[in-house]
Amino acid sequence: MDPAEKILSRERMDQWIAAEKAANRRIGFTCGSFDLLHAGHVQYLGAARELCDRLMVAVNSDASVSRYKNLLRPIVPERERMYVVAGLASVDVVTRMEEDRPLSLLLRWKPDLYIKGGDYAEDSLRSADAVKEYGGKVAVVKSGFETSSSKLMDRIGLLSAHAEPDIATDISDSQGVQGLVLLDRDGTLIRNVPFLHDPAKVELLPGVIDGLLKLQAAGLRLAIITNQQGIGLGYYTVQDFIAVNQRLLRELGAHGVRISKIYFCPHSLAEQCSCRKPATGMITRAMREFGVTPEQTFLAGDSDDDMQAGADAGCQTVRMGEEGFGPAADLVLSLSRHIGR
Ligand SMILES: [Zn+2]
Repeated sequence: MDPAEKILSRERMDQWIAAEKAANRRIGFTCGSFDLLHAGHVQYLGAARELCDRLMVAVNSDASVSRYKNLLRPIVPERERMYVVAGLASVDVVTRMEEDRPLSLLLRWKPDLYIKGGDYAEDSLRSADAVKEYGGKVAVVKSGFETSSSKLMDRIGLLSAHAEPDIATDISDSQGVQGLVLLDRDGTLIRNVPFLHDPAKVELLPGVIDGLLKLQAAGLRLAIITNQQGIGLGYYTVQDFIAVNQRLLRELGAHGVRISKIYFCPHSLAEQCSCRKPATGMITRAMREFGVTPEQTFLAGDSDDDMQAGADAGCQTVRMGEEGFGPAADLVLSLSRHIGR
């Protein structure tokens, strides 16, 4: 069956409801935007269907999602969101909801049961009262999953800040980049913890926020370039590494610092890859993707390998000293004033 057959206009829904009521079937109603359908939705709709004989789902229109959630949402257009919801075995019929709240639909169809997701407990008391008034019941179904569309979006944002190793991509908004600062992570931005994989151990080094803000203000783009041999050796996973970066990006982001990309080498020394510093793979790739020349590229790091890699790639290198990140940032700034503008 094509799920589209389950999507009904309001007028056809009127007929469907009348027929189901005539057959003495208990009708459940629920609604939502279902923007990025996830396990929590599927579990919730399955549980809702258990409470009734027929489940109808009103899916918020694009305009209503923009209004009540966020101007930039939804991600998925209403036609496709309705189609996906209709594809679930637990769902009998789907309709579009233009309204922000389901009150008028509830009064039109008077379902036996108005079912809400657990996280919406407070949000539609007026609808609940109206349902009780015509003799219907309200049920709240708790989701068994922690996930949400917003969390998925955060996750997608985080992952897209990471460069996938060895797959060439272009950074489309690179026009007009004044210069690029490639930053080593461990020992340069954050305290060096051997094989760091615990986000709780992320500790920014002195001067990092101020220094990065200055570089950013000078029109320089910031990217991280880091060896993560611990992944290749099996000491921690890529996901552990990403979780550490999430913590770092969050702390930097809270101060207005934006890291455009994270390049990482997940290989062990034995794998003899071309990305692990002092090899230049990550640097040449970053320069290509940001559309900058070696003269416009600065590498700030704390190790011999960083300095070697930067020099071999033809970049200007700045070594972190004992005084923290501030002096290194100042040096990059003064060097960047001399690049051809
Ligand atoms: Zn590598």
